[in-house]
Amino acid sequence: MAEAKTLQSYISGKWQSGAERGSALVNPTDGSTVAYASSKGLDLKSALHYSRRVGGAELRKIGYAQRAALLGKIADALAAKRERWYEISRINSGNTKADTGIDVDGSIGTLKYFAKIGAALGDANSLADGAPARLARDANFQGVHIGVPLSGVAVHINAFNFPGWGLWEKAAVSLLSGVPVFAKPATSTCWLAQEMIAAVVDANILPDGSISLLCGSPNDLLDHLQMGDAVAFTGSADTGQQIKQSAGVREHGVRVNIEADSLNAALLGPDVADGSASMNYFVREVVREMTLKAGQKCTAIRRVLVPAEREKATTEAIAAALSQVKVGNPENAEVGMGPVVNAAQRKSVEEGIRTLSKQARVAYQASDFKLVDADAQAGAFVSPTLLQAQDSSDGSIVNELEVFGPVATVVPYKSKEEAFAIARRGGGSLAASVFSEDSAYLAEAAIALGNSHGRVLLVDPSIGDSHTGHGIVLPSLLHGGPGRAGGGEELGGLHGMWFYHQRVAVQGSGPTLAAIVGRAVELPKA
Ligand code: NAP
Repeated sequence: MAEAKTLQSYISGKWQSGAERGSALVNPTDGSTVAYASSKGLDLKSALHYSRRVGGAELRKIGYAQRAALLGKIADALAAKRERWYEISRINSGNTKADTGIDVDGSIGTLKYFAKIGAALGDANSLADGAPARLARDANFQGVHIGVPLSGVAVHINAFNFPGWGLWEKAAVSLLSGVPVFAKPATSTCWLAQEMIAAVVDANILPDGSISLLCGSPNDLLDHLQMGDAVAFTGSADTGQQIKQSAGVREHGVRVNIEADSLNAALLGPDVADGSASMNYFVREVVREMTLKAGQKCTAIRRVLVPAEREKATTEAIAAALSQVKVGNPENAEVGMGPVVNAAQRKSVEEGIRTLSKQARVAYQASDFKLVDADAQAGAFVSPTLLQAQDSSDGSIVNELEVFGPVATVVPYKSKEEAFAIARRGGGSLAASVFSEDSAYLAEAAIALGNSHGRVLLVDPSIGDSHTGHGIVLPSLLHGGPGRAGGGEELGGLHGMWFYHQRVAVQGSGPTLAAIVGRAVELPKA
């Protein structure tokens, strides 16, 4: 086998190597090293400056619609190499085809979505926010808000679990806005991001400097931020706090969007009967969320809230479905769940299960863990594990610890108010889903959960087969959540563009302001 290569970074308009072999990227199915990544010695100060000076200027020579067209070309370039992305995702992330679909096809779909809706924005290079309004006795003295693209660079720091989608869902909105991208994927899975960016660079789609990539540790990246830059971060809450507290961010008032971890809940409504269609939809969704990407989705269901009188039946139904999931080598088409990303992650998940077990009993874990085409010693495999909280009042760990793997805990509730209160105890989450046949209860749940969640999915049987899933993020809807989830907002259609624009209040005479607003574009209402 050829020796694993060290991945280069693309900065200051050229591919550059770190000054060492660097950190190993592994194949979690067999533990072999597949590549290395190093950023040692790279001049990140100059690299950020190049993005701002060259990339920013070039991108803003053209307007929104032309930049939207570039996103369409990126989507086409990525679609042309789809098989390659599937291969890398399998090798470096242990992804099954279904897992990769979310990351790779999600990337292409998101780019195409922004290419399409961005095309309607025309040649403008600023956003209008309402019409000019009179400010004083003289009706001709008026004021208006507009949005002007940021002057700096958008640093996008991503988590290991979505090396493709995490890159492009951020880059699409930033590039459309006219702000150059400086992408920093998680080191452990940066190979996919690296080859995707290489494909886009080779296809010569983007103006020079408008996209850069750092493979390996962030080193002193944040020290060189300036006014007008922005940081969009996805990852753990701890790292998010470090980024917010970093000197570069604090001293220059750099805006930061944080997408952090989350204790998402699925609620089974009090009206749902054993064996009903709603119960089946609920069980299917919990199992899908636990096993897709081996539970390594920030939006995955971690807490399964069920009426106390349904706890036994629901737990048994979920356990029975989990026992049917084949775990092993994602290359085998029979396999429904692959490994977690590496041995360190497996250890962290195993420790998490032990900690949860202090307040919950293990209701399902494969006792006889037979892997398909894989070796349990070499690979980073974890059995899907369902826990059952003994009592809803006793579940502090369940409401505090995110175990980032194929793990969820059933928590019983005695009243609908108690269920909403438990969901809120996650401290702010990305997504909640509610399954019921009672539309009045679903509406009540949306309001009750709305101020502690970024997204609420309400499933009645009419959409049981057609909804997109508890954990699937759509480009047209907001992604983010309050509190522990980071307090950020991404996507949400064109509204995500505001993060990359400075909102400015402009005062002047009526005709002057009318001319400014005439050159800007009002975003369509969400
Ligand atoms: P992580 O350890 O926090 O790392 C995330 C990213 O931050 C990586 O690119 C990492 O680089 C970088 N980083 C680490 N320390 C940094 C620092 N001091 N300054 C700047 N960058 C730094 O998270 P992870 O293990 O990759 O991902 C798992 C977590 O992400 C889970 O908690 C999950 O819930 C969360 N997540 C949230 C969302 C969401 O949308 N809310 C989505 C996916 C995942 P290196 O890899 O080089 O260390």
